[in-house]
Amino acid sequence: MINLVLFGPPGAGKGTQAGSLVEKYNLYHLSTGDVFRYNIGQKTELGMLAKSYMDKGDLVPDEVTIKMLKSEVEKQPNAAGFIFDGFPRTVAQAEALDAFLAEKGMKMDHVLALEVPDEELVKRLLNRGKTSGRADDATEEIVWNRINEYNDKTAPLKHFYEDQNKLRHIDGVGELSEIFDRLVEAIG
Ligand code: AMP
Repeated sequence: MINLVLFGPPGAGKGTQAGSLVEKYNLYHLSTGDVFRYNIGQKTELGMLAKSYMDKGDLVPDEVTIKMLKSEVEKQPNAAGFIFDGFPRTVAQAEALDAFLAEKGMKMDHVLALEVPDEELVKRLLNRGKTSGRADDATEEIVWNRINEYNDKTAPLKHFYEDQNKLRHIDGVGELSEIFDRLVEAIG
């Protein structure tokens, strides 16, 4: 079993690279953003709650997100491992994930941090917004709020995983195939 976290700011390419990694390693791709968007589409209570934060570019509260993540993992008892994409985003989430994996006799193997400069992220997200229809990709103000949320609440997590000697820095700029090769090399 391998469990990976794809770590990085919005627009770093986590979702795209997760798609390729899933094929190579036969892992289950768990994107918390995708699960929230699915719930928004289904107009569930969770979806409505998440939407009120997501549309502004704010993080959904930890308690709600952690509960949802655990229930998604429990739905996949036969998975050969997970790619966590967009989770954890806070230290509280990372601590909850470690405890939860330990309870299940699992552990995190690698945390792969895709590094992309902020200006490039803004360009990518606004560009994606032209076709994605995502409210949180629509304006420069919301996009910057998401990047600021990342820098304030998520980037400090790098220390958490550095202390566990699990963090690998990956240059997230270049051709998709080059970035993929860097990820594969880091997984080893
Ligand atoms: P993403 O698709 O990963 O860019 O996530 C889109 C939005 O969903 C984020 O801007 C947050 O509002 C929310 N979200 C996704 N994952 C998390 C998380 N782990 N913690 C809190 N909010 C999250």
